[in-house]
Amino acid sequence: MPFKARIEPDDLKRFKILKERMELTADEKRYLLSLIKGFEGEVQFDLLIEKLQSKPLILNDLFLEVGNTKFQIDSSLIFQETLHFFEVKNYEGDYIYDPENFRSVSGKTIQNPLDQLKRSKVLLRQLLKNLGYNLPIEGHVVFINPEFLLYNVPPELPFIFSPQINRFMKKLDSKSSKINQWHIKIASQLAAMHLDKLSLIKLPSYQRAPLKLGPICKVCNSFFVSPKGHSLLCHDCGCSETAESAVLRYVEELKLLFPLRKITTNEVFYWCGGVISRKRICKILGKYLQVHGVHQWAFFD
Ligand SMILES: [Zn+2]
Repeated sequence: MPFKARIEPDDLKRFKILKERMELTADEKRYLLSLIKGFEGEVQFDLLIEKLQSKPLILNDLFLEVGNTKFQIDSSLIFQETLHFFEVKNYEGDYIYDPENFRSVSGKTIQNPLDQLKRSKVLLRQLLKNLGYNLPIEGHVVFINPEFLLYNVPPELPFIFSPQINRFMKKLDSKSSKINQWHIKIASQLAAMHLDKLSLIKLPSYQRAPLKLGPICKVCNSFFVSPKGHSLLCHDCGCSETAESAVLRYVEELKLLFPLRKITTNEVFYWCGGVISRKRICKILGKYLQVHGVHQWAFFD
């Protein structure tokens, strides 16, 4: 069990909803794909570090601030004598190393993550020092994807490529590590300092964009969905979902996209394209959410 677990960022969830409900530009689609891929890479790395026998304290996805400078760390492991932190990259393809950036044969470039790593190291060290801890720290960039190849890379750099990950994990496990209250205190303080609301994701502007209304299938995202008894049936993938579960899912979408708006029966009715009756929506909302007000003035949270 990680000390601090990774959860899918709200902005990533919002972006995924918007992908289905509005027209994204080609750039926005590419950007979303890179965000999804990045998140998947981090989750993949989480699964590997959870297998460590030496049981370090695991802090996933920390957004921290020192002075007025904010920084993000994908994964941190507190061992007895060292804090190891990781920047996880899920790049794919063949690239040529350059201190500035990695270049692909076709001319694409990726910024060298070494700068980000160095910056995080300086800031994390400063933060620990401010808190009064003198725990050595070591940072690495993990290239999690086996389909990524980097030519001409100097071997002394703190990079871990996919075929090296297992060996690196074994090395971490080879040292005995005893965690005590002091380590738990550091982990607790870092977790408490995590900036929950901060996001680096740039969402497409959707407040005034025409959003596509209608029921979305939970499996294949098709809008070709119609009611059948107490369920919704998708005519594209054939899956069926209870109206109850679908309504709660649409409420989640509305809450994510419009956190300031009140959830009303009408709002949900229009959001799902009118395929579920107001009466049923009202009953479901009443069952799971707190109701305020009466009749047409009722809203739920
Ligand atoms: Zn479907």
